[in-house]
Amino acid sequence: MRAAEFIPDVEKALKSRGEPSYRLGQAYGALCGGLIRDWEEATALPKGLRAALSAEAPAAVLELTRASRATDGTRKYLFKTHDGHLIETVMIPEKDRRTVCISTQVGCPMGCTFCATGLLGIKRNLKAREIAEQVFVAARDVAPERITNVVVMGMGEPFLNYRETLLALKVLNDGDGFNLAARSIAASTSGLVDKIRRFADEPEQFHLAISLHTPFEEQRKEIMPVASRHSIPELMDAARYYVEKTHRKLFFEYTLLAGVNDQPNHVEALAELLYHPLYHLNLLRFNWTDTGFGATPKREAKEFLRYARELGLPATLRPSRGQDIDAACGQLAAKDLQARPPRTVVPLSQT
Ligand code: SAH
Ligand code: SF4
Repeated sequence: MRAAEFIPDVEKALKSRGEPSYRLGQAYGALCGGLIRDWEEATALPKGLRAALSAEAPAAVLELTRASRATDGTRKYLFKTHDGHLIETVMIPEKDRRTVCISTQVGCPMGCTFCATGLLGIKRNLKAREIAEQVFVAARDVAPERITNVVVMGMGEPFLNYRETLLALKVLNDGDGFNLAARSIAASTSGLVDKIRRFADEPEQFHLAISLHTPFEEQRKEIMPVASRHSIPELMDAARYYVEKTHRKLFFEYTLLAGVNDQPNHVEALAELLYHPLYHLNLLRFNWTDTGFGATPKREAKEFLRYARELGLPATLRPSRGQDIDAACGQLAAKDLQARPPRTVVPLSQT
């Protein structure tokens, strides 16, 4: 159990009242398993304690200010932090899966030139509690269905906020916490090599995705400033360390940008670079952002996929979801939605 690290304010409040130590576990279970948003819902706790905790260490740290639903069923949640920042979370329903895409920073400092979050710059890192609570709210929203997968692919570079992100993932995985299998949790990084190695060394079997977006060094520097810090060979060394250490599949994210990285020579260079049997190329269609890039047409994206497979590279083309509410990859910017109401607003009482 990771209660003391995860909810230190609750631990302090319990200690100062001289509560027995098992109360901390009960409080942790109520938040992470019971998905309570208010201590009054934690019926395992005595009434007086519930009131005291509500005053000293509130159950919810994020305020859910808006929930919207796309025509394809994708849901987006807009949260306000205690210090007034806005962050976004997305829940993507599929046949037998419900995936939550969570944010780890308010904005992002990495400055990828095609990404709406990148345009915001960085305000601050999120705490583990703020990261995990996004999943709890989505889980409460879809109940009695269960959340089956969590992907750290929302706002922010998770490996710039490594400690808090990992603590959140461990709580989501914890049997006394949210109790989701580690293999159902994946993080995506723009390519911070030291942290890729550190992630490989973690005992849990979390999955990893690396955003590559081009096999060419100079072009990568143009579209992803992180490439000036770590060259592609350095990145591939870390990737290799990861697969050799974990024996897990490693995903390379590749957003197809029209006329930029979608040519046959890109496929050929990728097939050479991603030679390991555990490497998998995940092609993404570009979702519109006001950055001057355009999406590769569907037919050409399929041709890119076909050619990659022909060259022996395991690859998939992921469908884009939730575009009509700006909930797709790279579109999260936590805009003030007052100016642009979403198509469907879910009453907040449901969440
Ligand atoms: N910051 C992390 C995780 C976030 S986003 C990272 O960059 O890996 C998940 C994926 O969406 C990344 O591969 C990211 O590069 C990609 N992406 C960003 N903007 C996009 C856009 N407008 N359309 C499609 N994919 C985008
Ligand atoms: Fe940050 Fe990822 Fe967007 Fe790059 S793609 S700016 S790393 S959120």
